[in-house]
Amino acid sequence: MSLRRTVKVVGLGALALTLSVEWLDWLRRRLRWWRRGRQGPLKEVLFFPTAITCVEHLYTPDPRINSPCPCPCPLPHGLETSFTRLLRHLLSAAASLDLCVFAFSSQELGRAVLLLQGRGVAVRVLTDRDYMRITGSQIGALRSAGICVRHEMGAVHMHHKFAVVDGRRLITGSLNWTLTAIQSNKENILVTEEPDLVLPFIGEFQQLWDANDPARHYPRATPPSDTLALPRETAPSV
Ligand SMILES: [Zn+2]
Repeated sequence: MSLRRTVKVVGLGALALTLSVEWLDWLRRRLRWWRRGRQGPLKEVLFFPTAITCVEHLYTPDPRINSPCPCPCPLPHGLETSFTRLLRHLLSAAASLDLCVFAFSSQELGRAVLLLQGRGVAVRVLTDRDYMRITGSQIGALRSAGICVRHEMGAVHMHHKFAVVDGRRLITGSLNWTLTAIQSNKENILVTEEPDLVLPFIGEFQQLWDANDPARHYPRATPPSDTLALPRETAPSV
């Protein structure tokens, strides 16, 4: 075979390979879209209390990688529970996490939020003024890490328990983010990407976020001592 013919054959082969890869990729995306279309938006219901298992592997950079968990703790490993599902949904955040929760003292959920902050996810937390001071509250640790936290400024409780992940995935239900709620109480969580359900929660979060802006409540006066100690992002901007 002449050199010219060899080059031609190799070139055509490379072109065919490139087209095949692109076609397979197109086919894979079409199949995924088709499957998604048939199933509709994500929806999942979780009930608590949950079995107590090791969740160490979920804090790795990519929990989808099923590598053996190196953790030597005595808890069961490799089990999928309501709590591991909740953690997976939470840790799927790539751009933003808006969290609105009444009581937040779960160390594992606190660790997840701090991990997201460390990954560059924009985290905003709205909570209750009284319950952010409960024993074991994670709010102080979140603030110390520079996470923007606001609390209910009115005389009523901020009693919501919901999170919006990346502006499209809603996690909501009765569950407070406490160990008692996770391991002892009868609780529920609904996870959905149904826009008709997610969008009102996005609006509610933004409305509460704006309404509880410290700058609105302490425009010129010296803020109360508890807010003076807050990191720059949470202190009133005057
Ligand atoms: Zn373990």
